[in-house]
Amino acid sequence: MSPAPQTRRAAALEQDATPIPLSEVVFENTLVAALPADPVLDNRPRQVRHAAYSRVDPTPVREPRILAWAQAVGGRLGIAHPESPLGLEAQVFGGNKVLPGMKPYAARYGGHQFGHWAGQLGDGRAITLGEVIGHDGSRYELQLKGAGRTPYSRTADGRAVLRSSVREFMCSEAMHYLGVPTTRALTLVGTGEAVIRDMFYDGNAAPEPGAIVCRVAPTFVRFGNFQIFAAQQEPDLLKRLADYVITTHYPGLGAPSPDVYTRWFEEICRRTAVTIAEWMRVGFVHGVMNTDNMSILGLTIDYGPYGWLEGYEPGWTPNTTDAEGRRYCYGNQPQIAMWNLVQLANALIPLVGDKAPLEQALSAYGETYTREWRRMLSEKFGIVAIEGEEDDRLVNDAFELLQDVETDMTIFFRALANIPLNEAADDSALVEPLRRAFYTDEASQPEHLSRMAEWLRRYTARVRSDGGAPDARIERMNRANPKYVLRNYLAQLAIDALEQGDASVIDRLMRVLERPYEDQPENDDLAERRPEWARNRPGCSALSCSS
Ligand code: AMP
Ligand code: MG
Repeated sequence: MSPAPQTRRAAALEQDATPIPLSEVVFENTLVAALPADPVLDNRPRQVRHAAYSRVDPTPVREPRILAWAQAVGGRLGIAHPESPLGLEAQVFGGNKVLPGMKPYAARYGGHQFGHWAGQLGDGRAITLGEVIGHDGSRYELQLKGAGRTPYSRTADGRAVLRSSVREFMCSEAMHYLGVPTTRALTLVGTGEAVIRDMFYDGNAAPEPGAIVCRVAPTFVRFGNFQIFAAQQEPDLLKRLADYVITTHYPGLGAPSPDVYTRWFEEICRRTAVTIAEWMRVGFVHGVMNTDNMSILGLTIDYGPYGWLEGYEPGWTPNTTDAEGRRYCYGNQPQIAMWNLVQLANALIPLVGDKAPLEQALSAYGETYTREWRRMLSEKFGIVAIEGEEDDRLVNDAFELLQDVETDMTIFFRALANIPLNEAADDSALVEPLRRAFYTDEASQPEHLSRMAEWLRRYTARVRSDGGAPDARIERMNRANPKYVLRNYLAQLAIDALEQGDASVIDRLMRVLERPYEDQPENDDLAERRPEWARNRPGCSALSCSS
């Protein structure tokens, strides 16, 4: 996917501008200035009313140390690379020092969890430090995750473990380079403190190293920020938050009015649809699509027990907490996003005064999703435009084949560009490029191979009917079918190494994932299917929310 002109300009700016030391960065606080703060200053878990956030400072940690720094994000923000892993950056992004100009806060929000209204949730361990105007001219919020207790921590500790922090840090960056709308991450800081977690909720709690991610996005406002005001009947706050988000983050929509609220909601529907279609394209499963984990900007947000499809399986979810109902499995994601948008629409009714316009606006979701997904499928399959019943059958039959015999989705699509297109190719020549995608012996049985070959014959005939230059087709496919994704076991290997003090694995992986669509022959080992040892290993196939 070639970057949009705007992204290209931003990338050029990132390289040209000279970053300044963190101590000289100017911080702004537009959300704090625009919305009312919790009048109670007591940092103890409680129900907060009549406020959009609570002012709270991070809780200092014993020995903050920068474990990873995302150079490109630093460049975009205009913040210079730390000179030492133990310097001011470690102090600030570990939560030990609040710089002049920062007004740290935890946001108040609610949400539907697994389909049920859960009431107040809020930033239980995330604390926003402030906002920075980046070198690209955009506003970015800097937020620490794992920075200690807040009034929204309920019974939890406000901390995060290294494994989950590494996972958020790496995946949000990997998603960015894949071209998926996402929050980003600047730093990963080790706290030098242990955090107690019962990783599989089986009564075996154990100490683990703690860490803090500084994540970055124009705003971390979620659907749930609006839902809590609607649920607790605070219409004035609802309006003030909507007006803030529209004027600051959707300035093109014009001055807020009932009509603008509707058009704004329609735009959220469109953006959400694009993001979900992108997830489906790259095989990403979020794992916890609660409404408090849905960004008001349509970004991928809150990386928890997410995972990547290895064998193509629509029913797969990485989240052990969801193993039974599979509400948030890969194949359900498009409908769940729609369900979540309905909840947001319900919260916005008081602004519009009538639910009909919002219902109407909601159709933008399905329209955008269908259009985007069809476009992406055309690119993935290397067909000029997938249209008509016969094309639909061709595509559906492919997915059925992938599902029937465990086949790696990423490798399959990447290899599809290499299938010989000449009519004379025999069965084994046709299937050969796909063999690396097969997980089991079943896939190599003559029966499956001949089914696959039969499909490939239909497929190559369809591709030939398009005509066009073969090289251009391959290039287009390679821009839609990543070679490198953050396979679940690769993330776990990076975590294992970092827990032993070795940052080389995460460093290498991050570098490779910056160019996911390029062939990098020296890194072919990172594009292989999941090894068998990782099939059922904790962290490689199943994850809990205990992060
Ligand atoms: P999540 O499932 O990570 O989206 O979190 C749901 C809610 O639980 C949010 O309000 C989080 O801030 C809160 N939460 C999750 N983990 C912790 C923790 N360790 N300490 C405090 N609050 C947490
Ligand atoms: Mg969350």
